[in-house]
Amino acid sequence: MTFERLNVKNSLHFLHNLLPFKGLGSAFLELLLPRGCAGCRENWPVSAESCWCDVCREKLPWIRSPICPVCGRPFQKSPGSGDHLCGDCELSTYSFDSARSAAFHSGVARDGVHRLKFGGHLHWVPPLVELLETVLTDEMKQRIDLIVPVPLHVRRLRQRGFNQAALLARELGRRLEIPVHCAVLFRRIWTEPQTRLNREERLHNVKGAFVVLRPADIKGKKTLLIDDVFTTGSTLCECAGALKEAEAAEVHALTVSRSLPDWRPDASLQDLDDSQ
Ligand SMILES: [Zn+2]
Ligand SMILES: [Zn+2]
Repeated sequence: MTFERLNVKNSLHFLHNLLPFKGLGSAFLELLLPRGCAGCRENWPVSAESCWCDVCREKLPWIRSPICPVCGRPFQKSPGSGDHLCGDCELSTYSFDSARSAAFHSGVARDGVHRLKFGGHLHWVPPLVELLETVLTDEMKQRIDLIVPVPLHVRRLRQRGFNQAALLARELGRRLEIPVHCAVLFRRIWTEPQTRLNREERLHNVKGAFVVLRPADIKGKKTLLIDDVFTTGSTLCECAGALKEAEAAEVHALTVSRSLPDWRPDASLQDLDDSQ
C-alpha cells in the first residue's frame, strides 16, 4: 500500500471514529464516507465495484452445492453428493418456485444483516446486495420482470424507520436495471416476533398476513422476492402465495442469508429477531 493511500485510509478511519451518534443520522453520514472492505475495514476491496477484500470474500460463509434445487437448502452432511430435493420440497411445502440465499446466517453475513436491520447502518446495503448478485445466474437476471421486497407492517416500519428488504431490493434493481415494486405487496396483519416459534407456529402466525394491492402489476410477471434472511420460509411462502394468487407467472425468492435450525455455531446472537 502506498504512503498516500495509507494516509487516506487512516483519515477515513479517523472520520468514521468521529461519528459518535447512533441510529439513522450517523448511518447516513457513514454512507457519505468511502470505506475499506465491509468485512474487515482493514484491506481495500478487490475492485472499485466490490465492497469486499479477497480475504473476507473467501471467509464469507457461502452456501454452495449440494443444495436443494427448489428451496436452496444446503446439505452440509453430504458434501460429495449432487443437488437433490430436500424433505420439505419432496412434499411440495413451499409456494415459491425457487429460493436461494447467498450465505449461512453466520459470521460477517449475519453481522452485516443485523447492523443494517437493527443498527440502521445503511452502508451495509451495497455489500449485502453484492452477495445477492453473486447468487443470481445470468439466466435468472434475464428472466426476472420485476423485483418485490417482503414488506414490513406499517407499525414496524414506523418503529424502524426503513424496510431493510426494500433497501436491498431497490439497490439490486438499480444494478440489474429491473423495475422494483415496493408498494405492490402489503403486510396487513401485525405479527409478534417469531424468534422462538417453530415452523408450524410461524406459518400460522403469518397466514393471510400479505395481500397484493395492485394485482395488475403482478399478473403474468416473473417476480423476484427479496428479503434479508430465510429462516423457516414461512414469510416468503405467504408472500409468494399472495403473488401467485395475483397470477404472478413465477415467484423466486432471494435472501442474503439462510438460518438453519440445526446449524447455529454461535447461538447466543440468535436472540435478535430476524423474522420482522
Ligand atoms: Zn476484508
Ligand atoms: Zn428444498
